[in-house]
Amino acid sequence: MSKQQFERVALIGIGLIGSSLARVLRRDGLAGEIVACARNEATRAKAIELALADRVTADAAEAVRGADLVVLATPLSAYAALGARMAPALRPGAIVTDVGSVKQAVIRDLQASLPDTVHFIPGHPVAGTEHSGPESGFAELFRDRWCILTPLPQTDAAALARLTALWEQAGMRVVTMDPEHHDKVLAMTSHLPHVIAYTIVGTATDLEGSLKSEVIKFSAGGFRDFTRIAGSDPVMWRDIFLNNREAVLEMLQRFSEDLTALQRAIRWGEGGKLEELFSRTRAIRRSIIEAKQA
Ligand code: NAP
Repeated sequence: MSKQQFERVALIGIGLIGSSLARVLRRDGLAGEIVACARNEATRAKAIELALADRVTADAAEAVRGADLVVLATPLSAYAALGARMAPALRPGAIVTDVGSVKQAVIRDLQASLPDTVHFIPGHPVAGTEHSGPESGFAELFRDRWCILTPLPQTDAAALARLTALWEQAGMRVVTMDPEHHDKVLAMTSHLPHVIAYTIVGTATDLEGSLKSEVIKFSAGGFRDFTRIAGSDPVMWRDIFLNNREAVLEMLQRFSEDLTALQRAIRWGEGGKLEELFSRTRAIRRSIIEAKQA
């Protein structure tokens, strides 16, 4: 049954994540009005064409005026300027949240500029694809995935409950977490795999001519799976690494040590060690499938 939960929702950024949320809001009749904000005219036109928003604007202040829910869904590097721009126009009592892949830096960039009259609740729906833009979104993106909210000590319980209900309506399982812990967990589960994929694909593109073309031709041997991850949006991922530097470097250090150990096992022909590791990793894969996160 459709049920309006918000009078006006401002989506600041209407790409993969923003437009997927817009589709959920539309599908379930959760918003009286949706206002989308994007820089480029073509993005705004696409949002109207796809009926993702009732109104579009390039101005974040105009977008948030009168909104009782504001969702930031742009690359992280835009947050500080957008926060400062929209702050004076925010409606008292509004929930201000985001979908950014890093949480401590988001709090750093937004908290100081937001007025005390709004409820700021940082968030991260852990769901995505390697595609970008309003046309790549879909309402089912969030189904059976986890959404991590990192409320602040002073966060209002009723506002947190409203935001939790929204993500649950989108099909997500919602947990709350300390922002520092979030950044460590995601450094391992998401950011490190991207570092590795970017490196492997980068190494392959540095190979000389004939070898390089064979990498493309025979990519089904494993390389192809890395290219999917390494095909993710360059600006978004630049921002993630710049904004979660410490946690990513820590995980990268651990990874380098493990890689060296694996290198050694291969060099010395230690088949038992290899098999033991690969058995453990296969079990992890199976538990991810069982948890329906594959
Ligand atoms: P996206 O598809 O590239 O969309 C970004 C949107 O932000 C576009 O509509 C873009 O509009 C707009 N934008 C960029 N700079 C802006 C600015 N200064 N002012 C107003 N609008 C601006 O990105 P996405 O994949 O949805 O990612 C958005 C956020 O979600 C990121 O912070 C990312 O960390 C997080 N996230 C992503 C995923 C994923 O898998 N993709 C998963 C979870 C969380 P223009 O076309 O006008 O630039």
